[in-house]
Amino acid sequence: MSKNKLGLNTICAHVGEIKDEQFKGAVSPIYLASSYEFIDVDVKRYPRYFNTPNQEYLSKKIAALERKEVAMIFGSGMAAISHMFLAFLNSGDHIVVQNTLYGGTNNFIREEFPKFNIEFTFTDGYSVENFEAAIQPNTKLIHLETPSNPLLTITDIKAVSDLGKANNIVTSIDNTFASPVNQTPSDFGIDLIMHSATKYFGGHSDICAGAVTGSKEHMDKIWNVSKNLGGSLSDFTVWMLERSMKTMGLRVKKQTKNAGKMAKWLEKNEAIKKVYYPGLKSHPEYELAKAQMHGFGAMLSFELADGLDSEKFQKGLKLIKASMSLAGVESTVLSPAQTSHALLSQEERDAIGISDGLIRFSVGIESVKDLKKDIQQALNTI
Ligand code: PLP
Repeated sequence: MSKNKLGLNTICAHVGEIKDEQFKGAVSPIYLASSYEFIDVDVKRYPRYFNTPNQEYLSKKIAALERKEVAMIFGSGMAAISHMFLAFLNSGDHIVVQNTLYGGTNNFIREEFPKFNIEFTFTDGYSVENFEAAIQPNTKLIHLETPSNPLLTITDIKAVSDLGKANNIVTSIDNTFASPVNQTPSDFGIDLIMHSATKYFGGHSDICAGAVTGSKEHMDKIWNVSKNLGGSLSDFTVWMLERSMKTMGLRVKKQTKNAGKMAKWLEKNEAIKKVYYPGLKSHPEYELAKAQMHGFGAMLSFELADGLDSEKFQKGLKLIKASMSLAGVESTVLSPAQTSHALLSQEERDAIGISDGLIRFSVGIESVKDLKKDIQQALNTI
């Protein structure tokens, strides 16, 4: 961060607070009203307009964290992605997305875009050359995900951003896996940054939310579509999200440190065939990750050695939960083939390298020695 900008933890703790002028409470009050006065007011407020006091103020924290002008908060990460995509894509337009993409986004594109006559191309890989090869004259949006879910591939953010600029195409990124703690895509010129706030923003596995941030001009476009689609978040949950985000810097830094230690330990474990973590020197894009990330993140994946049953392994864990979502303070594992990518065919999964024995590991804040002990005892049982 430059000298005149607030530090990460200061932004997390303070930016976007609502001052309680009436009672002088230490935290933002919750405004649950779904109806606001409209005569003689500057802003016509309504929950679906994304501008209730809690929505408006928390958005400032998100924009500050990603160093953008304006942010909007949504009812889920998928609401954030879908509203953002539909704001920039009209019938006859084309989007380029990378093939190593979150399963839900992949699904949304394949199932919904044909209904709107929106064309799409999944890249053949995640390098800038793959993105360039997929561009067409009607391409209006390039969307990338780095690190990607679940194989933690790393795409060169600046190269893709420059590619968009050279071709007059808007660029967007899913920054969920890194979180603003570990990656600032606006430093490389990406136009729009979205998050599943269900993950590190929430951090306690009890909130479902999403966010998009960008320039005022781009966000005005998204607002125009979003007020029609209506995917806003209830103010109570917005307030909970504000509370959670105060500790995001602390949580994610500790989780990232733990993930680095776990990745190194797993890589040496003979029951593990392969570890996917951008902070390992064995990762093909280690140098790129080091250059464009502040930290390597708290997500990793690993493949069990041949013949070891991934279901038995998950069932054998005592401390680490087998759980659908990720990024909570508690460590969790998941089998992508059975969950996030279950809607893809076996052939499609094979094509993007998602084997049945792949385990995605969301590393929490626990003591590393306890995590190692739990994994080792589960491996010993299979
Ligand atoms: N993007 C990524 C990388 C995700 O992992 C997820 C959910 O797992 C989403 C988007 C969708 O977010 P949500 O489940 O909050 O709709």
